[in-house]
Amino acid sequence: TLTILGSINADHLIQVSHFPQPGETLSGRNYQVVYGGKGANQAVAAARLGAKVNFIACVGNDDIGREMKKSFAQEGMNTAAISEVTQARTGIAMIQVADSGENSIVISAGANAYLNADRVQSFAHIIEQSDALLMQLETPLDGVLCAAKLAKQAGKQVVLNPAPAQPLPDELLGQLTMITPNETEAEILTGVKVVDYQSAVQSAQVFHQKGVEMVLITLGAKGVFVSHQNQQEIVQGFVVQATDTTAAGDTFNGALMTALLEGKSLNQAIHFAQAAAAISVTRLGAQTSIPTRQETLDFLAQ
Ligand code: ADP
Repeated sequence: TLTILGSINADHLIQVSHFPQPGETLSGRNYQVVYGGKGANQAVAAARLGAKVNFIACVGNDDIGREMKKSFAQEGMNTAAISEVTQARTGIAMIQVADSGENSIVISAGANAYLNADRVQSFAHIIEQSDALLMQLETPLDGVLCAAKLAKQAGKQVVLNPAPAQPLPDELLGQLTMITPNETEAEILTGVKVVDYQSAVQSAQVFHQKGVEMVLITLGAKGVFVSHQNQQEIVQGFVVQATDTTAAGDTFNGALMTALLEGKSLNQAIHFAQAAAAISVTRLGAQTSIPTRQETLDFLAQ
C-alpha cells in the first residue's frame, strides 16, 4: 500500500476577462467548485491508476469536507485517516482564470493547518505498515517531518514532492528516498537555476549531498531529469496539445508511486507517469483531469 499525506482544498474557479483592479467589481463566468489540493490530487491519481491508497489529511466539520471524504472513498481509497477538525473549515483556493490564460490564486489552508506532528503521530501505524509514503508541502512542516521519520525508521520509501517550494531543513532531506521538484522548486531548494542538463546535474548533486538517493526534476513538456546512483539522464515526455497543466505534477507523482509499488523499474515507472500526466494536461481542472489506469494504458498502446 501507498500512504499519501497532504492537503485537501475545494477550488473555487471563476473565469474573468481580466483581473479586477482594487475597488472594481467584475462579472465572472463558469463558476465551479472543483476538488483540489496537492495531497488529494496525488491520492486520487494513485487510486485511479490502481494503487491501494491510505490518505492522511484534514477537512473541516462542514458539508464540502464530508462530501470530499465520501468521494475519496468512492475512488477506492482508505479514508480512515482523514480527520474532521472542528477548529477550522475545509481548505479552499479562490482561483481566477483570466482570458489570457494566467491565473491568480488565494488560498486558505483552513483544516490543512491542523495536520501537525501530534496528529500524524496518531496515524503512525498506517505509515509503518505501508510500503511507501508520498508527501508535499501544503500542510505543516512538523507533520511532514514526523511522518518522514516514522516511515524511514520502519524501512519504507519516503518520497517528497516539494511543492509549493520552501527552504527545507537538512534533517527532512536526510530522510528522503526520492525528491520530485519541478525546475522552479529545484532552484529554490538548491540555489541552482535549472535551465539545461548540466545545471540539472548540479542541482541534483546538492540533494544527493544531503542524503537524497533519487532526484527527479520534472521539466514540464520537456520531460523528466533523473539522477540516481551516479547515472543521469533526461527521459522525454509525450507530445500533446496542452489545455490546462493544473495537476500535471500531481498526476505524475501519484502515477510514479503506483508503478514503482507494482515493481516496475524507475524508467518504466517514469514512462507510465509521464503518460498519465500528459493526458491530464489535455483536460481542464485538477481532479477532473486525472486519468484512470485504463485510459493511461490505452494512451500508451497508441
Ligand atoms: P508541475 O505541474 O509540478 O509544475 P511539470 O510542469 O514539470 O510539474 O509537469 C510534470 C510532468 O507532467 C512533466 O514531467 C511531464 O511528464 C508532464 N507534462 C507537463 N506539462 C506537459 C506538456 N505541456 N506536455 C506534455 N507533458 C507535460
